[in-house]
Amino acid sequence: MHFYRRVADIQAYIAYQKSQGHTIGFAPTMGALHNGHMSLIQHANEQSDISVASIFVNPTQFNESSDLEKYPRTLEADIYLLYENHLNALFAPQVSDIYPEQGIHTPNFNFQNLDTVLEGEFRAGHFAGVAQVVYRLLEIVRPDHLYMGQKDYQQWTIIYHLLDQTDLETELIMVPTVREVDGLAMSSRNRRLTPEWREKAPMLSKLLARIQGEFENTDIDHLVQLAEKELKEAGFNPEYFRIVDGYTLQPVKDPKAHKKVVACVAAWAGEIRLIDNMILRDDL
Ligand code: AMP
Repeated sequence: MHFYRRVADIQAYIAYQKSQGHTIGFAPTMGALHNGHMSLIQHANEQSDISVASIFVNPTQFNESSDLEKYPRTLEADIYLLYENHLNALFAPQVSDIYPEQGIHTPNFNFQNLDTVLEGEFRAGHFAGVAQVVYRLLEIVRPDHLYMGQKDYQQWTIIYHLLDQTDLETELIMVPTVREVDGLAMSSRNRRLTPEWREKAPMLSKLLARIQGEFENTDIDHLVQLAEKELKEAGFNPEYFRIVDGYTLQPVKDPKAHKKVVACVAAWAGEIRLIDNMILRDDL
């Protein structure tokens, strides 16, 4: 496994691989890696000739400095996990490599309000930061395939629109959410849950699964209210629980009128903010 810190070095590696006719599959991450991330790497290894991952805790997407400071950093363990999963090259730059003093150019993307709903309502500036770093990384790596998790469904839709507005020839692939055996979506933040909250946390996915069984035949508003009430009663502090159109992320009233429907939740489990989602309908 190759390990690069500097932009010029990973670019030289990519240029060489491309000159050999190899396709590049890329998975950007913030580290503190788990099996959800490894699923991205496995997809890249299966579908692309060369797998590349990045580890970069991007300061511009955190709206609270304490969250940025507390974000777990476990580079040594991450390298080991990536090596075991047959990654070809890891890019782990410093902040000054991604955001050099002379500044970087980020186009003015139009996300058609995808960035102002759900996470966008509660994490001001978050998606501007995500778009900035993903665009910067894509310009450096220029992958044929970009692998992102369904776990961050909204992020996926935003990057889909971003790619549409660039001349990058990158195909975006959604990798299904990897869960713990009790249903909790794997997340780097899970390791900060107290034992009590770790025990309660699978409730999010259980609620989503229940809704999946009921949403066609029950009033959507009623389902959403019930879910929020149950979360509160269990001690969570829910920010949102919504059933939305899978393309526009706008609330759904009549699920039969939409081709793709997704239930999304964000809730505080004590000090830790958890998100999860489930695709309820996908009529492609
Ligand atoms: P992060 O390191 O949290 O920024 O995540 C990096 C990438 O891994 C994003 O595309 C996430 O959607 C994806 N990811 C994170 N957790 C999971 C999971 N449990 N299952 C699948 N993909 C995930």
